[in-house]
Amino acid sequence: MPSPFFNEDHESIRDMARDFAEKSVAPVAAEIDKNDTVPADLVHTMAEMGLFGIKIPEEYGGSGLDMRSYVSVMEEVARKSATVSLYISSTNSLSTAPILLSGTEAQKKKYLPGVVTGESIIVFALTEPNAGSDAASLTTKAVKDGDDYILNGRKCFITFAPLADHAIVYAKTSPDKGAKGITAFLVDMKLPGVSVGKKEEKMGQRGVPVSDVLLEDTRVSKDCILGEVDLGFINAMKTLSVGRVGVAALSLGLAQEALDLAVQYTKLRVQFGRPLAKNQALRFMMADMETRLNAARLLVYNAAWLLDSKQDATKAASMAKYYATEAAKDIIDKALQLHGGYGYSREYEIERLYRDIRVTTIYEGSSQVQQMVIAGQLLK
Ligand SMILES: Cc1cc2nc3c(=O)[nH]c(=O)nc-3n(C[C@H](O)[C@H](O)[C@H](O)COP(=O)(O)OP(=O)(O)OC[C@H]3O[C@@H](n4cnc5c(N)ncnc54)[C@H](O)[C@@H]3O)c2cc1C
Repeated sequence: MPSPFFNEDHESIRDMARDFAEKSVAPVAAEIDKNDTVPADLVHTMAEMGLFGIKIPEEYGGSGLDMRSYVSVMEEVARKSATVSLYISSTNSLSTAPILLSGTEAQKKKYLPGVVTGESIIVFALTEPNAGSDAASLTTKAVKDGDDYILNGRKCFITFAPLADHAIVYAKTSPDKGAKGITAFLVDMKLPGVSVGKKEEKMGQRGVPVSDVLLEDTRVSKDCILGEVDLGFINAMKTLSVGRVGVAALSLGLAQEALDLAVQYTKLRVQFGRPLAKNQALRFMMADMETRLNAARLLVYNAAWLLDSKQDATKAASMAKYYATEAAKDIIDKALQLHGGYGYSREYEIERLYRDIRVTTIYEGSSQVQQMVIAGQLLK
């Protein structure tokens, strides 16, 4: 479908992603969910295709493409597997944006190329057991000791932590200064005192391991500081404000797949002597699903376009994440309803979509946090 936000380059990237998703992801999506693991050869293919470096500048090994290219790849891949799309969002967003935003040239050269090739995994470690939505209340401490810092604390729900080579850890360097006393550190996961907790048994998006990261008297050199001391929270918030557009795109893909499945199913399933799709009540339900999905897509691509044209996208990105994830959750719920009892069976794809969408209104800023951002921008 032609879009005011797309040019020919965006169309061809979307076609490439759709082709990859249909030919290479769809056949293994159910198996990934069942086994809770992504085949190594699929990860290798994604790296070779450049999917881990879509937004990373060419000088660090990436393709240097824009947000709209990234968002369209996320949407297409998520249509077939949310899990596989997370391998793309993690590398293009949470693990590299903090370095691109605040890293020195030496740090960018050291850390980014390995992420693009898939040789290195970096994780974003902000959340703690008692600091989720209120991330600034984190208590992980970094205490200066000569030219080093000693880190102590526990991070939780860290995506890809069990596989990580490095973690971007946000820690208090000036505990009495609140959000203005947080510093970002690039921590080697092999350092003494660093460990990971047990892998979380998640409801959905299975195949992406998530766990705690523990730091016990971990000594890091001051060269591991990302950006300036005490300015780490701004780095985290800027990373998340762009990252949430990727989550919104992921939810579009899941909702599109669910709607396509519902259309197919209701045309074929006969009850009371005619296909379900002949009932006006169900036709109207699907009309609402289609309308909300299109509205969500416009918000997501508008936010991406604002970011590409270097305009302030704070409110637009939050509106896109808030609306797209909530709408997608509702669309998928309705699509499952339209499948009747079969929708509740693991044999049907819609059951996986129902589990995979659930977390999107929670992570990278819950819906309520997005409402706070939108209202804050509106009422400032
Ligand atoms: C699968 C998964 C992967 C994740 N990956 C990462 C990662 O890689 N890195 C990382 O740092 N974190 C990660 N997280 C953590 C995630 O960002 C947090 O779970 C999220 O920010 C919410 O925090 P919380 O779970 O502590 O909920 P809480 O903050 O305790 O919130 C509970 C509920 O209350 C609502 N709420 C809270 N405060 C208010 C308020 N003032 N007004 C109204 N409503 C409010 C919230 O919206 C939510 O619905 C991940 C989480 C999950 C589940």
